[in-house]
Amino acid sequence: MTYKHFIDRDRCKGCGICVDACPKKVLEISDELNTKGYFPAFQARPEDCIFCAICCTMCPDVAIAISEIEEEKAAQK
Ligand code: SF4
Ligand code: SF4
Repeated sequence: MTYKHFIDRDRCKGCGICVDACPKKVLEISDELNTKGYFPAFQARPEDCIFCAICCTMCPDVAIAISEIEEEKAAQK
């Protein structure tokens, strides 16, 4: 199964909790404002993400999600 990491940049308040919590140092704070006037977190090194979901759990604004990408659906039929 493949996973996708998603940060809702307009929900993010730029608190930096996820940046500090990530064990792989994947996340950083952007230098561009979101629509609410905060500097949101983003995946600066997505190739290092291990999809541990610590950032999702820690975010007080529930701005981060990890979803499964279903592959080869057709192969199951
Ligand atoms: S899922 Fe884990 S490794 Fe990936 S960005 Fe979040 S805390 Fe870091
Ligand atoms: S913990 Fe949530 S609100 Fe805080 S910077 Fe990370 S994504 Fe944004």
